Amino acid sequence: PTRSDITYFGAGPALVSTDILEDAAKALINYHDTGLGIAEHSHRSQLATDIINQAKADLASCLDIPDDYEIIFMAGGGTGQFACVAYNFVGAWVARKQKEIFGVNGGDSTDPQLMQQLKEAVDKDLKMDYLVTGGWSQKASAEAERLFGSEHVNIVADSRETNAGKFGTIPDEATWKLSKGSAFVYLCDNETVDGVEYPAFPKSLQPGPDGEGPIVVADMSSNILTRKIQVKNYSAIFFGAQKNLGLTGLTVVVLKKSFLPPSISQPSVALMRYLALPIPPIIFQYETIAKNNSLYNTLSIFDVYVAGQVLKKLLRTYPNKIEGQQAISDQKAQIIYDAVEAFPEIYKIIPSKAVRSRINICFNVTKGGDVNAAEKAFLNEATAQGLTGLKGHRSLGGIRASNYNSVPLEGAEKLAKFIRTFATT
Ligand code: PLP
Repeated sequence: PTRSDITYFGAGPALVSTDILEDAAKALINYHDTGLGIAEHSHRSQLATDIINQAKADLASCLDIPDDYEIIFMAGGGTGQFACVAYNFVGAWVARKQKEIFGVNGGDSTDPQLMQQLKEAVDKDLKMDYLVTGGWSQKASAEAERLFGSEHVNIVADSRETNAGKFGTIPDEATWKLSKGSAFVYLCDNETVDGVEYPAFPKSLQPGPDGEGPIVVADMSSNILTRKIQVKNYSAIFFGAQKNLGLTGLTVVVLKKSFLPPSISQPSVALMRYLALPIPPIIFQYETIAKNNSLYNTLSIFDVYVAGQVLKKLLRTYPNKIEGQQAISDQKAQIIYDAVEAFPEIYKIIPSKAVRSRINICFNVTKGGDVNAAEKAFLNEATAQGLTGLKGHRSLGGIRASNYNSVPLEGAEKLAKFIRTFATT
């Protein structure tokens, strides 16, 4: 088959539109008549800096990112961020405690009593809060436990506990056990494997009337750029580019500047050693990368270029930016869910309705009673019609239709039609 024969619903990486790839292929050979391809130009060149700055500006425009946030480009994927988030926000927590205990001008005290006090605070009060609502937030919490020890990780809620050991719900906020003064509260906004998405920003994480609220960090790897978000609710948002922004290899962090110098600096290596806390690799230290405008080390400028082109296209296509994209994303999800829901005796949607994802639509095919055989037949027939990438995650099985931004409205309609025909024939 050729590209145009296929409508691809894979969970990631996702398709990038053909016009962008054709332009990118040319840029790889000879970028803007420079005689050199874009991946061959120095990342220190003005040309590279221009590409980075333009992509940052366009991302800020798409997502309405306020001025007091920094955009950082990194490598290491969403998985790298599981470690990064823990390192950097624990560092910020230690820096705040240090200031509290040593006084405003503190930072370099070697007073043994104050040092002991800080160590006791770490042992007793250092907590990272995790909301575990699916496979990805579970992995993130496991990484924090691996690096810092489980005594520093607080599971605020785990949806498996109230759902027969399975993901597919988000526990009632009234049952959440948030710790006081935690280094951060972590959530995965859209669980790609389990098809669970927060319908809105949780009420209990909202800032109070004084503007003070918990430090919230969100993994938006699979739903970034598919709906409007209030960036100011978060201290950090991260995502890999490979689903809604471009190609694999680029990771984006949107970070509140108050977590960067001059507001706050990561604690010294000596202090972290004294506190028996891990020291982040330098390429995982946000302040190092931010200070260098994402060029502390060699960054794939090609990936940033493609992301920039995707953002430009989004801005061109939707004058009302993310609202326009959200309307289409919601409409596509509705079309697919409507088709699935029309045949309750044939299909069973896995997550509960209130939290089901607009982006990763997960269901079982129960037609005829033999789920395995029915799903095999569903996948085979779908593939024959050019509807591919529908197999569920290897850990969960079932069908998963991923509704990323590169899936056109007609693609969603084609899938919905197939779902209806399969059920009735
Ligand atoms: N978080 C979410 C929600 C994801 O969907 C993924 C990948 O699919 C990851 C994290 C891991 O990202 P990466 O493969 O870029 O490390």
